Amino acid sequence: MKNYEAIVNGMREITGQAPLARVNPRLIAVSKTQPAEKIKALLEAGHRIFGENRWQEAKERWLPLKPLYKGIELHFIGPLQTNKVAEVTGFFDCIHSLDRPKLADALSKESCKLPCFIQVNTGEEPQKAGVIPKDAPDFIRYCRDELKLNIVGLMCIPPADVNPAPHFAFLRKLGQENGLARLSMGMSSDWQTALRLGATEIRIGTGIFGER
Ligand SMILES: *Cc1c(COP(=O)(O)O)cnc(C)c1O
Repeated sequence: MKNYEAIVNGMREITGQAPLARVNPRLIAVSKTQPAEKIKALLEAGHRIFGENRWQEAKERWLPLKPLYKGIELHFIGPLQTNKVAEVTGFFDCIHSLDRPKLADALSKESCKLPCFIQVNTGEEPQKAGVIPKDAPDFIRYCRDELKLNIVGLMCIPPADVNPAPHFAFLRKLGQENGLARLSMGMSSDWQTALRLGATEIRIGTGIFGER
C-alpha cells in the first residue's frame, strides 16, 4: 500500500506542476499475475481501476471480485485476438490495444461502444504490437470515421532501454494532430516522465504490487 500511496501522491505533484491543461490523469493498477490478497488490499483502499493483458486469466481473477466491489473498471491492455472480442467487450470497460484493422473490424461487428485506445508502435519494433507511426492517421480515421468506433486516445509502450521521453512526446503530438485527447502511456519505470509529457492514463503493475 505504501507504493500505491507514493504513486498517487507523485501523480498529484507532477500534474499540479505541469504546464498543460489536461483531463484527470488516471492510475490503472495492472493486476496481471498478482495474488488475490494484494488486489483485495487495493480494492479495500478504494482503488477501482485495474488493467489485465490476458482474457482467460482476467476472467478467473475478476469474475468472483466484480460482485463484491461497486464500480470496478477493467481495462484490457494486452494483445486481443479477434475470436475473443465478444467475450472481452462483454467483460471489460475499456480497450487499450486496438492495433490492427482486423481487430477494428471485429470490434465493429460486435457493435463495440467501449472507449478504445489505438496502440502505436512508436519504436517500430517488429516483435511489438501496434500500428506504425506512418500508418496511424489512416488507421485512426478508419476506426473513428468509417467504423464509428469510440476512439478516445492513443497508447504506446516505448522500447526497453531507451529514453522513453521522445516516444511519449511523439504520441502526444500524434494525438493532437488527430484530435485525440487521451494518452495511455507510462509504466512502473517511466510513469513520471509520461505524466510530465501529458499522459492521461498510466498503467502500473510492479510499481504498485511488487515483482510478478
Ligand atoms: C504489464 C504491463 C504494464 C505494467 O508493467 P509494469 O512494468 O509492471 O508497471 C503496463 N502496460 C502493459 C501493456 C502491460 O502489459
